[in-house]
Amino acid sequence: MINGYNGKGLEVDLSSGKIKEFTIDNEIIKKYIGGRGLGVFFLTKYFSPNENPLSENSPLIITAGGLTGTRTPTSGRFSITFKSPLTGTITSSNSGGFWGVNFRKTGYDALIIRGISDNPVYLYISEDKAEIVKAADLWERTLPELTDTLRNRYTKSVKVLGIGPAGENQVLISAIMNDYSRAVARGGPGALMGSKKLKAIVVDGRKKFFPAKQELYEAGIQQSNKLLKSMPVTSKALPQLGTIGLLKLINDHDMLPHKNFQDVYHKPENIEKISGELLRKKFLLAKRGCFNCTITCTRKTKVGEKVGEGPEYETTALMGANLDIYELEEIALANYICNDYGMDTISFGNTVGLAMELFEKGYLTIKDTEGIDLRFGKKGILQKLAKMTALNVGFGKFIGEGAKRLSERFGAPELAMVVKGLELPGYEPRASYTQALGYATSSRGGCHLKGGYLVTLGFFGGSREVNRFLIDTAAGHVVNEQDSGCVADSLGICRFSFYGFGENELARIYSGYTGIETTPEELKFKAQIIQNIERNFNIKAGFTKKDDTLPERMFNEKIMIAGEPRAIDKESQFEKMLKKYYEIRGWDKNGYPKD
Ligand code: SF4
Repeated sequence: MINGYNGKGLEVDLSSGKIKEFTIDNEIIKKYIGGRGLGVFFLTKYFSPNENPLSENSPLIITAGGLTGTRTPTSGRFSITFKSPLTGTITSSNSGGFWGVNFRKTGYDALIIRGISDNPVYLYISEDKAEIVKAADLWERTLPELTDTLRNRYTKSVKVLGIGPAGENQVLISAIMNDYSRAVARGGPGALMGSKKLKAIVVDGRKKFFPAKQELYEAGIQQSNKLLKSMPVTSKALPQLGTIGLLKLINDHDMLPHKNFQDVYHKPENIEKISGELLRKKFLLAKRGCFNCTITCTRKTKVGEKVGEGPEYETTALMGANLDIYELEEIALANYICNDYGMDTISFGNTVGLAMELFEKGYLTIKDTEGIDLRFGKKGILQKLAKMTALNVGFGKFIGEGAKRLSERFGAPELAMVVKGLELPGYEPRASYTQALGYATSSRGGCHLKGGYLVTLGFFGGSREVNRFLIDTAAGHVVNEQDSGCVADSLGICRFSFYGFGENELARIYSGYTGIETTPEELKFKAQIIQNIERNFNIKAGFTKKDDTLPERMFNEKIMIAGEPRAIDKESQFEKMLKKYYEIRGWDKNGYPKD
């Protein structure tokens, strides 16, 4: 067995109620690392790309990263890999907190869940025992209620991952949550878990791991910590204000979407009303960090009598600025509902933005919305909409289907701000051509993280600085950052730490931890293999070159950005970047991997 890994996984069949252990071959671990890589390997092994993502056979694959739970900074992450019920693409989403660390300590690197239970159940996993337990009494509970109940039932040290009412109702934008408010959000994993009638997974792990080469391991960790301390974004900006602190900076770069990405104009006084500074002043209770993280970007907040986490940057951008709603209290309260009921705040905010544009343009009437005035800027509706969506009632049923389906249902598909069916996050593509290409080529669609998170490199990338408007260099940057991101996802490291350190330090740590000498180039090469597998999965699922694109608005509607009217010219700019991207990836002119 490779040092630091468990070398085994657990397969749970909820239809038959059977649980069995299996061995994970060393060669598989060497090739796919863990986290996203191992998840992608198992998904393609167990599931055909053209099957229904909510079928009995559709697996939910949970994998610890190669360095999850080690002393590597920000190494608390684990991945969940599945075929997205929302989009149909392969999707690997990850989350921080503490659950993944505890999962690895139960003695397993992977958990494969298939089948559908007749009645609600949860899983309990420790080093000694793995069992399926009845959960009728837990159904319909919110995430805080669920988590408190299960921690009281076992011990306070167990970690809980689960779904809220949104996942139970198979809402397509529902999330799986862990540690109360951390989210595996994108692509609708909550709907898949809900379809299996699996309410929660409790992990109770205690196993200890030791590095194979202590000195090398320590040297890499020390170097990583030093770099995190030396970069202003990881030592000051994020620790001081959390991710919401990015809002002003992103607005200053004309990148903050407004009115369903129709423009990026926000009055400065409005931005003040939803800023990180205001959150700190009015609502902050404490800073929080995931496992072994000094960046501590999470915010514990209190609004009225309600205590929760956030809102984060993405939530504030999509459920606030994008909707022309500049009320931090309202955004925070709606965010609490999304967290408690288990919903992706990016997809929710983006889809509400679409509904508002449909409403203002007459595609949706007040009868369709059952009396809800959906004009942009309308106050007092977010909490109601969030609850209706999670409970799958009234007009909320349509919001819960996501932007692509909503736009098609009401006859205006061109107004959905999605890529491959996944709602865009809070960064305007016309304000960063590199990020635009990242969105278009991301394996799970409109995602800044899988797309490479290029958007912020133009402001505080340090050694990774890129010019956001340069067409000629965009493809190289996108490939490089997507590969780095895939390394982070497979090792179980938070993307924010990449503003400080990267695969150079991680290769040293991984070599020291496992005892297998590994170079940064090898890690990136493995990341390319993983992404080629994702690409092939999507092709077999029916996605083609025509899906590597952006909403038409990005090509046809010019808006003022950085002092110039900008759209992305489809032929001379976008197609040129895409062609170059395929070439660098070694794909043919239609985007098919050659091997
Ligand atoms: S930077 Fe934020 S999200 Fe990342 S590990 Fe730290 S607290 Fe968690």
